[in-house]
Amino acid sequence: MIKLPYPLSTLSRLMVNSELCVNCLALASRASICEDCYNDLPWIGDACYQCGLPLPYEADHCGECLSAPPSFSHSEIPLLYTYPANRMLHRYKYHRRLAYGRALLQPLLAVLRTHLSVFPGHRPDLLIPCPMHRSRERQRGFNHADDLAERLSVELTIPWSNRALRRIRATEAQVGLDRRRRTKNLRSAFEVCSALPARIALVDDVMTTGATARALSSLLLEHGAEDVQIWAIARTPSQTGTLASTLNEVIDF
Ligand SMILES: [Zn+2]
Ligand SMILES: [Zn+2]
Repeated sequence: MIKLPYPLSTLSRLMVNSELCVNCLALASRASICEDCYNDLPWIGDACYQCGLPLPYEADHCGECLSAPPSFSHSEIPLLYTYPANRMLHRYKYHRRLAYGRALLQPLLAVLRTHLSVFPGHRPDLLIPCPMHRSRERQRGFNHADDLAERLSVELTIPWSNRALRRIRATEAQVGLDRRRRTKNLRSAFEVCSALPARIALVDDVMTTGATARALSSLLLEHGAEDVQIWAIARTPSQTGTLASTLNEVIDF
């Protein structure tokens, strides 16, 4: 006799219009993730209002933002870049498993909806995905930041564009450069290609040191934007997260 993994009543529900959780294959309560797996995601508790850095105590800003404030005004980043969020992101980004992207978008949408209902004035006029160099996009065949920005645009009814900002060259190695030279190096890798509205949200998957976010935000402000915020799915636990993220990119989960 064939053994079914679900009772028949569950199977018939699945066949109608239900989705399974990408992590445990239970029925998904929201797009591609079940309630338990959603609650078990590595949610960030206390964090810096400006850069989203997780803090071990309740405070508005981290030491870094107090001593050298970034040009962006605010970050919305719901998750820590740790298991299982890092594994899910890897499958989405490098293996084009779009259901993982849908699942990871849910925590970001939840914090954004709360933030925008409390502060309706923070609603951006335009979402801009952090640009990937075209050679890298061709190599990978998928631009996850575009995909995230487009999905957020549909859910929140805010326009998005991947034509406002362009990466004109791959970024050189940042190791050994001080903050000022790192920002300069990064800034010259991008160009603004169209007129910008006042309020912009930059969209990406992971924020590590925040160096790219700082560079892009300064560039957008120089070209007419008045306020830039950062929207991302996950944040490395410390600002020296580059090594961890590089290692995670190398490991095939
Ligand atoms: Zn689950
Ligand atoms: Zn900060």
